[in-house]
Order: sequence, then structure tokens, then C-alpha cells
Amino acid sequence: MLTAPFAASVRHVGAVVDETGDLLRRSGDLRAGRGLISTVVALLLGCLSLLAVLAFHFPQYLTMPELRHQYSVEVLRQLLLVALLLAGGLSLTNLIFARRRNLNLLAFALVLGAVALGGSRVPVGDFPNHTPYIGLDWFILDLLGSTTLFVVIEKLFPLYRGQPIFRPEWQTDLKHFAVNHFLVGLILLTVNFLIHHVFGWLVSAPFQQSVRTIAFLPQLLLCILVADLAQYWTHRAYHQVPLLWKFHSVHHSTKTMDWLAGSRQHILEVIATRVLVLAPLFVVGFGEGVVNAYILIVGFQAVLIHANVHLPWGPLKYLIVTPDFHHWHHSQDTEAIDRNYAAHYSFLDYLFGTAVKSKKQFPERYGVVGDYMPAGFMRQQWFPFRAMFAAQGKTES
Ligand SMILES: [Zn+2]
Ligand SMILES: [Zn+2]
Repeated sequence: MLTAPFAASVRHVGAVVDETGDLLRRSGDLRAGRGLISTVVALLLGCLSLLAVLAFHFPQYLTMPELRHQYSVEVLRQLLLVALLLAGGLSLTNLIFARRRNLNLLAFALVLGAVALGGSRVPVGDFPNHTPYIGLDWFILDLLGSTTLFVVIEKLFPLYRGQPIFRPEWQTDLKHFAVNHFLVGLILLTVNFLIHHVFGWLVSAPFQQSVRTIAFLPQLLLCILVADLAQYWTHRAYHQVPLLWKFHSVHHSTKTMDWLAGSRQHILEVIATRVLVLAPLFVVGFGEGVVNAYILIVGFQAVLIHANVHLPWGPLKYLIVTPDFHHWHHSQDTEAIDRNYAAHYSFLDYLFGTAVKSKKQFPERYGVVGDYMPAGFMRQQWFPFRAMFAAQGKTES
């Protein structure tokens, strides 16, 4: 038989689990004044801090070599310390004022767990460099950075003012975001292998040398143009070839546009698009600095164009892809179907005759026509294969 204090603790843990599950399933506004916003911030920072400490313990398996060679470990330790202090301070304050007790107990336990495992002082010894890894550090840093930056931009310049941060299906898109980041090593390995083995024969050293003599800015603009031409035609093929659309429709199935919505992509589309867009850059042989600048721009623009943001772009909208331009691409409205393919330079769609022409300023509905995409990350990864089997079954019967 359970002793009374033990039974009470089990009940308490059960209540914390129930309340956390309930919070994670919810969507909608975080109402200010009841401690919910500070509780969510404490939980997020507590959780990311614990994961960060694990990444410090096992850098060979949980960090990305390309990233860890770039950043300063000391700066990351300071960042971790700030996150721990914030999460600890917020959860403790909420506990003192008896707000959201169970959730703040969990946030505080996450902070204690991170501190017990070494906190921001966890030592990092020597470790081997060529181990298989998941990009946990990339996930933590990008989630923290993107949330901070884009939530501020979306709150300052919203297109849909009433749209909450935790809008419907945020859980699905966060899973897409997480998996795309965790699998970054596998994705990079596959992309590099395919680029070198399939397109390597096209490389001409004298041609590449002459490209690298172009000044930085024109070379960067040219690099973006080459990448966007490749991505324009790849993207158009995704829309016009029925088999490819089965994969790409996952990206189009989001009904709410915000910075996280762009993460919803089938994993095979992520790999195929990166191969087909990076291969021409590899063949042309742009300088390393130019390619790095391009990667920063694509990383920012790809998130921004999905964001719930409206800015007065003026005539710039005919030159570069803006959130307004890409929101139309995600629309179900008749005039927007198979339009606005570009990712960087909107003039490509005007040039190829595929730009949306509408009297309306903004689309009315987002998502795929017929709303046939199942909800949930795993079902969406499985969707193209299920659709293929279904189509095969129909032709055989
Ligand atoms: Zn598309
Ligand atoms: Zn998109």
C-alpha cells in the first residue's frame, strides 16, 4: 500500500503532467495579467536551458560542427546563465504569488535540473569531430533567435492584428521546425554528397576563378539570382508535376501564416530543393563569403515572407519577394493558384508571367483547395506516399 505522502506526491506529479499536456495542446491568446505569459517564457527558457546543458555535455553528438566552429563558447555560457536566471526568477516569482503553481513548479524543476547537471559552468573537454550528430544547438539558437526577432516584428507590424502567437496548429509546425533542425547533419551530408557526385563533372576551375574576381556586392546579387532562378523552376515543377505536388502540398497546407508556418515542409522536399538550388551555386563557384552571405539572406527572407507582417514596401515589391507577395502564393483564392513562385526576386514572376494579379490587397483564405491535408507532423510526412498508393490502387482497379 502507498504511504499517504508518497501517494500525494504521485498525485501532484500527475497534476503537473496533466496541466503541461493541456497547455501544449492549447492554442489562442495568452491573456496578460494571470501569470500565463511569464509562465510560458519560464517553461520555454527552462526547457531550452536543460537541452543546452546536455549539448555542452555531449557536443560531439548534439552540436553542429559548422556552428560550433563559429560561435564563442564563453558568449553561449553567458546566454545560458541569463536564460537560467530569467526562467528561475520568473517561475519563483509566480510560485511566491501562487500563480500557475503546477506549471511553474515544472519550470523551476527544469532550471534545477539544468543547474544540477552543471548549469552554465559545465566543463567541455576534448571531443572527436567526425561523429554523427543532431543539430540540437542549431535548434535552440534558431528557436530563441527567431522567436525573439519575429515575434517582435509581428507584434510591431502585424498583417492580422488579432492573430495569436500560439495560433492553431503551432504544435505541428514546431515539430517540422524541430525535425528540420535536428536532422541538419543528415540533410547537409546528403545534399553535399549529391551535389558533388551528380554535378561535380560540370565544374570548370578557370570559369570559377573568373567568377570570384567579381566584386562582393554584384557577386552576391548574381549568386541570389542564380539561386532564385533554380528555386523558381524547382518550385514551379512542384506545382505542375502531380507527383511532386503531393510533397509540396504539405508546405501549402498551413491555414495561418506566421514566421513558423514556413517550417512546414516535407523532409524530402527540404533535401531536394537544397540540392537543386545549391548545385548551381557550387558549379558557378561563388566565393565562400558570398555563399555565406547568401545563406544568411535566404535564412532570414524565407522566414520573413511567411511572417504575419505588413510593411509599406512601395515599388520594392516588384523587385524583391515580400511577405505580401508570398502570402498570395499560399492562398486558396482562384487568382493565386500556381502563382508567385520566386523566393528572393519577385521580378522573376513578372518576367515569366506568373505574378498574381488581383484587385484585392490580401488573400481571403490560405491552405490547399479542398483542405485535404491531415493534421499532425507524422501524418503529413506520410501523406505523399499514402496519396501515391491511393492513386496506384485506383489505376489498378
Ligand atoms: Zn508552392
Ligand atoms: Zn511558403
